[in-house]
Amino acid sequence: MNYVIDPPVQAALAVQGQESKFPVRRIYCVGRNYAEHAREMGHDPDREPPFFFCKPADAIVPSGAEIAYPLATQNLHFEIELVVAIGKGGTHIKAADALGHVYGYAVGIDLTRRDLQGEAKKMGRPWDSGKGFDDAAPCTAIRPVSDIGHPSSARIWLAVDGKIRQDSTVDKLIWSIPETIEHLSGLWALQPGDLIYSGTPEGVGPVEKGETMTGGVDGVGEIEIRIT
Ligand code: MN
Repeated sequence: MNYVIDPPVQAALAVQGQESKFPVRRIYCVGRNYAEHAREMGHDPDREPPFFFCKPADAIVPSGAEIAYPLATQNLHFEIELVVAIGKGGTHIKAADALGHVYGYAVGIDLTRRDLQGEAKKMGRPWDSGKGFDDAAPCTAIRPVSDIGHPSSARIWLAVDGKIRQDSTVDKLIWSIPETIEHLSGLWALQPGDLIYSGTPEGVGPVEKGETMTGGVDGVGEIEIRIT
């Protein structure tokens, strides 16, 4: 195939223990999926069905990278999240079958321009400028299910310059990974290469230029990203 301009590079993540990479097709994110985080954002966690937003695939940044403080914000927030990598697609996937569609897991940070997201919420506008900006999706290498199984009650945490800011467990997800896949695959046809950022626990907050975020999900991996 010839193109009139150079085609974009395929976004991809490393897979631990393998030379081949995992190609990233789409990045889906779940909003307010831990009760304490929903409350800190001013919402009642008991009444909301899951909702989703997307980030562009090329917003992926590997762990260990330095990223420039993003454009157009004065309030960049971290959100540590368990990331699900889809290996087998489908529509209307039942929760009972959902884990069979998972290739592996990773640890991601749903970076958020909270000021732009807040404005969008107030105006009833889309979240893209708050969530879908360049470098907004740092993520570790993927750990295949064949190596680590499915994390069920693992600790999930994030520290800024060594100070713990988020500390919870993934069994506190309001919508579990299988339930999330069931809902998501009723809205979009999932395909191999899709990632799902499954939501963040309480404790979100700002990260400043010169600070380093470290975080992890026990048994899955650890991420480190420095803002310059
Ligand atoms: Mn999030």
